[in-house]
Order: sequence, then structure tokens, then C-alpha cells
Amino acid sequence: MDKLLFIKIVYIVSAVLFMYGLKRMAHPRTAVRGNLYGVLGMILAVAATMWSDDVEQVSWIAGGIFGGAAIGTLLAYLIQMTAMPQLVALFNGFGGLASVIVAGAMLLLPGNQPSTSEWVATALTGIVGSVTFLGSTVAFGKLQELDLFKNPRRLPFPHVVNSMLFVALIGLSILMIYNQDMYLYVVIVLVASLLGFLLVNSIGGADMPVVIALLNSYSGLAASATGFVISNNVLIISGSLVGASGIILTRLMCQAMNRSLVNVLFGVMESGSGDDDDDVYSDVTQTAAEEVAMMLEFAQRVVIVPGYGLAVAQAQHAVQNLGQLLEEQGTTVEYAIHPVAGRMPGHMNVLLAEADVEYEKLIEMDHINPTMNTVDVAIVIGANDVVNPCSRTDKNSPIYQMPIIDVDKARAVIVIKRSLSPGFAGIPNPLFALENTSMLFGDGKQMMLEITSAMQDA
Ligand code: NDP
Repeated sequence: MDKLLFIKIVYIVSAVLFMYGLKRMAHPRTAVRGNLYGVLGMILAVAATMWSDDVEQVSWIAGGIFGGAAIGTLLAYLIQMTAMPQLVALFNGFGGLASVIVAGAMLLLPGNQPSTSEWVATALTGIVGSVTFLGSTVAFGKLQELDLFKNPRRLPFPHVVNSMLFVALIGLSILMIYNQDMYLYVVIVLVASLLGFLLVNSIGGADMPVVIALLNSYSGLAASATGFVISNNVLIISGSLVGASGIILTRLMCQAMNRSLVNVLFGVMESGSGDDDDDVYSDVTQTAAEEVAMMLEFAQRVVIVPGYGLAVAQAQHAVQNLGQLLEEQGTTVEYAIHPVAGRMPGHMNVLLAEADVEYEKLIEMDHINPTMNTVDVAIVIGANDVVNPCSRTDKNSPIYQMPIIDVDKARAVIVIKRSLSPGFAGIPNPLFALENTSMLFGDGKQMMLEITSAMQDA
């Protein structure tokens, strides 16, 4: 068979593996295998490219691949589960940077005479890749809570400045394409980097997960544009897949928070409904670990609702222990997962999987809500906004119509948190004052340990 045809067939097989892998990543149980399909697709694509006549300096490329793979593997092993969003931000940024460098290197290739469409693709790579690189670096800095990036700093008239930079980039691109001037590529990269910095720097740290999903999409688009620059089909396909899945994830996250992407990128979260904390919390019932243990002894169905506080308290193993103890006494235990509980997509799934909670017991919001009225005890641990019933009732609330887990419909609700202070949205939560709710104040892990030991002593 003709070598070129063989390589094309391998590229198609790789593309199918990428798509199949993505499909399997849609569920935690199949996600690991899905990832492996993606890895296999990438190995095939790289091997075919190395074998092609386009590649002359095989040893240099192999050195880069093995060096990069070693650094990536080391980072992935060393990183704490809670620092995963930062790592993803870095990976996105490197993806953008790699695209910028490859497209730039093509301009330097002796004898290379890019066509007009290749100049267009080069300009696009320079813009999108540079915004991704600097934007992701800032997102990393914010999530790592580096002092330099801690508080959002907004320039006066930020939208005007950003729009001017964007218009300048379009003008520079037209000039570069028209004059076929490769030095303008450097200017485009510098201006786009500044735009990436300004765009992300003005967004608050808590919104970074959405921004990272968006930048992930951008890194795919940059790679896809680079595919046009170097005429590589598998890069065009894989870049488009990353671009499309990143934008779908961004949309899902915004929907689950009931916020528009424009609001996340350019706005700040509106302040609360104006309800005074004292009015909302005039009648709060407090409880103790021993009382909760007694209540649990008689429960047949218990649902645990984790939130951001579970991650802060690192209570996942203590939660799993309590769940196991309850199951040993014949109680049905499930975990209700809200799509944006925590601070990154799948945050709760990752933490509970780390503590070996079986996937079957993690029930998504839409599936568990219709049966919440048959739950004997709902234990809310470190969750707040995602169980706030005013999203159903208060039209003035900033989280009005944000889908929530309907814990208020359970027969009894135990809320474990350290105080009555609000969650990410900054608004009071009437759940805490409902007749069927009891507050267990304290650190999530400590309270879980106390309930477990009270049950064991009983
Ligand atoms: P929230 O931020 O609403 O609430 C977390 C609660 O955890 C706080 O009220 C806090 O109360 C409590 N807490 C903190 N530390 C501890 C601890 N050590 N032990 C016990 N409790 C603790 O979290 P949710 O998960 O309910 O909601 C997530 C929010 O984040 C939503 O508003 C969502 O829109 C937003 N968001 C989510 C993203 C995602 O991708 N998942 C992305 C961007 C935003 P106290 O201080 O009293 O203990």
C-alpha cells in the first residue's frame, strides 16, 4: 500500500479513537478507559507522523516527546487532587504556547512560501494560542493563590481597552496576511498575550473553573488552526474535538450555575436578594453528633450531599467510613451530586472516588430529586448554594432558577458546616431555618468522625 495512503488511514483510526474516547469520558465508570483510547489514538497519530516524509529530524522530536512525557507524568503523580484545576490550566497554557511556536517556526522554514489561507491560519493561531497561554498562566496564578493574582484588578474601562486590543489584532492580522510580513506575527503574539492577561486577570478566582474550561476550548481551536498551517489533518480533527468539547463543558457549567458566559467573563455576581440574615435565621435548630447518630440508627434511606466544604475539610474518607457503617446496619446510602458542587467540574466525583465510594452510589441531581421526599435523613456536608431552596422561590435571588438538590423535601435534614456564613453566591440560605433541618456546626471531617464514633459507641 502507498505510504501516504497508509498514514491517512492511521489518522482516521486515531480520529475515531479520539471520538470514542470522548464518548466514554462522559461517565465516571468508563472515563479511565476513554482516556486510554485517547492515549492510543495519540500514540498512533504521533507514530504515523514520525514515519511520514514530512519529518526529517526524528531524534529531536523523539527527545521532545520523551522529555515532555517525563515532565507531564511527574507532575501528574506529584500533584494533589485539590490542585488539579491548576494543573489543567498549565496544560492548556502549554498547548496554546506549542501552537504559537509551531506556527511561528513554519514562517522561519527555509523555502516555505505560505499560501493566503496558511497566513490566515497562522494569524488565528497567533491570536488564539497567545490568549490561551497568558490567560491560562493567570488562571493558574489565581488558583494557586499567588499574591500577584489574588484580587481581580480591573483597568478603567476594561471592555473598551479589550475591544481596542481585539480590533488592533484584526488590523495587524490583515496587514500581516496582505504584506506576508512574518515580523508582524511577533507583534500579534505580544498584543494577544496582553489581551489574554487582561481578560482573565479581571475575573474572580472562584469563576476560574469556567474560565479554564473555556481556555481549554481555545487551546483546541489554536491546535486546529495550527493543523491548517502545517497541513496536518489529525491535528485539525483533534483540535476541533478539544475546541467543541471545551465549549460544551463551559456551557453546561454556566447552565448549572444559572449564569450566562458573558456574566462570568465580564460581570461580577450580583449581590443577594436583600434578605437580612437575622430574618432568615431567626429560628435555627442546632444539634449534636450524638443526636444525629441516634437519628441515623432508625433511618432506612440516607442521602449525603457533598459541597465545597467537603473539599476544604478533606472529609471524603470520613464520609465514606460513615456511609459504610450505615450500610452495615442495613441502611441504603446514596450520594447526591450537583454538577457545580465544589469549584471545578466533577470535583465531588473525584474526591469521593479517591475515598473508594462506588460510582453506582453517586446519583446525579436530576435522578435523585424526584425521590427526595422518600429520604429519611439528608446529610448536607459543606454544601450551601447547591441546596438553597430560594432558587425555586425567590425571584430576586441571584441564584433564582439555578437547579438545586431538593434536600428540603427530605423527612429530616442535617447540615454540617462551621457557621451560618454564606457560600460562593454570598446569600443566606432559608434551608438552615426550616422545621425539618438541624444544624451541626463544626468542621466537616471532625463532625463526620464524631457521628461515626457516636454510632459505634451506641
Ligand atoms: P458553597 O460555596 O455554596 O458553600 C460551601 C460551604 O462550605 C460554605 O457555606 C462553608 O460554610 C462550608 N465550609 C467551608 N469549609 C468547611 C469545612 N472545613 N467544614 C464544613 N463546611 C465547610 O459550595 P457549594 O458546593 O454548595 O456550591 C458551589 C458554588 O460554587 C456554587 O455557587 C457554584 O455556582 C460555584 N461554582 C462552582 C464551579 C464548579 O465548577 N463546580 C465553578 C465556579 C463556581 P462555613 O464557612 O460556615 O463552614
